[in-house]
Amino acid sequence: MSCIFCRIANGEIPAEIVARSEEVVAFLDVQPLADGHVLVVPRAHQPCVEDLEPAQAEALFRSVVRLAGPVREAVHAAGTTIGVNNGEATGQTIPHVHVHIVPRWQNDGAGSVHTIFPRKAYREIKDVGTLIRAALAEASSGIDVGRGGD
Ligand code: 5GP
Ligand code: ZN
Repeated sequence: MSCIFCRIANGEIPAEIVARSEEVVAFLDVQPLADGHVLVVPRAHQPCVEDLEPAQAEALFRSVVRLAGPVREAVHAAGTTIGVNNGEATGQTIPHVHVHIVPRWQNDGAGSVHTIFPRKAYREIKDVGTLIRAALAEASSGIDVGRGGD
């Protein structure tokens, strides 16, 4: 298995681990964007979040929620930006799901999630809502995300 995050999860290569469970491992990013930059990684090798089984996804997000406060407090940050590069086109460099938790401070020079987008949206919001509800119905994933829209 050549995936670097699988190898970290299996203990084959070192990392600064901060938490581990049966389903998830969390460790410090080797090239931190800020002090306390943590990666939360499911042990299951899946490239994108939509590839995760529901139980894997639940365990992952539970870990993110559990870590967010302690990570922030450990480095006396004011908040955290939590994000996932989900797919190669988004800049994801390791094709194994990982959630970034990056501590933030007032006036730290970084922007909000909005600042990474040049804001290019051309379709009517209502039309896009219709398209997504149709895609959800087709996927019939079994996950009840609510009916949405009216
Ligand atoms: P991505 O761009 O795929 O969302 O983020 C991948 C992250 O993994 C990067 O922030 C990068 O610094 C981190 N990373 C890459 N290789 C290693 C490694 O071997 N160890 C650790 N701890 N982090 C890594
Ligand atoms: Zn992997």
